[in-house]
Amino acid sequence: MSEQSSSRPLIVMDDIVKIFVNAAGTFTALKGVHLTVYEGEFVSIVGKSGSGKSTLLNMLTGIDHPTEGRVLVDGVDVYAMSESQRSQWRGRNLGIVFQFFQLLPMLTLHENVMLPMDYADKYAFDERPQRALELLKMVGLEKQAYKLPLAVSTGQQQSAAIARALANDPPIIVADEPTGNLDSRSAAYIIDIFEELSRRGKTIVMVTHDPSMTERTTRTVVISDGELIEEAIVLALPMLSHPLMRAVHDRAERLTFNPGETIIQQKAPVDKFFIIAEGRVEVVLQVRGKEEVIVSHLGRGDFFGEVELTRGGKAIASVRAALDAPVRLLALSRPDFDWLMEASPMTAEAVGRIVQQRLQENRSQERRKRPRILGGR
Ligand code: ADP
Ligand code: MG
Repeated sequence: MSEQSSSRPLIVMDDIVKIFVNAAGTFTALKGVHLTVYEGEFVSIVGKSGSGKSTLLNMLTGIDHPTEGRVLVDGVDVYAMSESQRSQWRGRNLGIVFQFFQLLPMLTLHENVMLPMDYADKYAFDERPQRALELLKMVGLEKQAYKLPLAVSTGQQQSAAIARALANDPPIIVADEPTGNLDSRSAAYIIDIFEELSRRGKTIVMVTHDPSMTERTTRTVVISDGELIEEAIVLALPMLSHPLMRAVHDRAERLTFNPGETIIQQKAPVDKFFIIAEGRVEVVLQVRGKEEVIVSHLGRGDFFGEVELTRGGKAIASVRAALDAPVRLLALSRPDFDWLMEASPMTAEAVGRIVQQRLQENRSQERRKRPRILGGR
């Protein structure tokens, strides 16, 4: 069970553009977003206020429609349906949680949770009260079930809103800053609930502005001015601020190498910093003349070239694309790399630690009499 996700794409957003038109003119809120979410993933979407997070979720839920592009959820084209089909489909397939709970104030928590069951008509009429009670129990609200929303705390209101989102047992939960209006203790409790749902196999997409929440999800997507930052950058250099991630995204050169192709030659000069966006590379050391040792394998979100750029000098090992598939790289020039390390001291420190570690590995490899093949990091 788990943090593990299948490789079945459940949500596919394909080149989504959203342009708002109003009296002031037009505003492009999403500039061609591609996002695939696999079954079982718990994805957090982060980005500063106004970057397009809610707009993105609204494209996914069918609450608003894209100007261009396609959204497929479990193979269903969300915008090929009529408005009423879409609303039926949403009720059965998506559980939506908002920042401001949006419970109906004159209904008890129990009645609020039953409401989506009445719309979707998935569970028999007689089963609904018991099912609603079980859901409320799951989020720790069995004692509050028959209270009105305003009679319980804001954290409890959000817990009830989650129970409501689960009413029709949807495979996907979508949440827009679900902890944005809560104190830190209630927020922690709400995230516990989401984690539990993830363990039970739900696919979750959650917008959050709280960086501590992203540590609890299986994947982080950063949005900046209506564009997604290449995820390998977020994985490789997580300490960068979003504007700096964006700068890397914009400045990096995109390179592809064929299986087995050499990217860096040992002892040759290196003038780029490489981040692996897709595929794998082998780090290969020539030891005592002809013997070749694969020192390590690096994959998506790993980087190389930093040893040479920070220490000067020639490549301490060769790097080549693994044999199974081509490798896609993001490459920063030396001036851009130097600029980045200066702009983010924390990143420079993290990179520095990896440099030390790799130099040490390298030295111990060279000291070995008999070369040994090491596995991945
Ligand atoms: P976030 O959720 O990341 O804070 P939003 O997705 O709500 O950002 O908004 C992204 C941008 O789109 C903002 O600049 C916002 O002002 C604009 N926007 C959102 N909705 C509308 C709308 N209905 N009409 C015009 N502009 C909008
Ligand atoms: Mg928002």
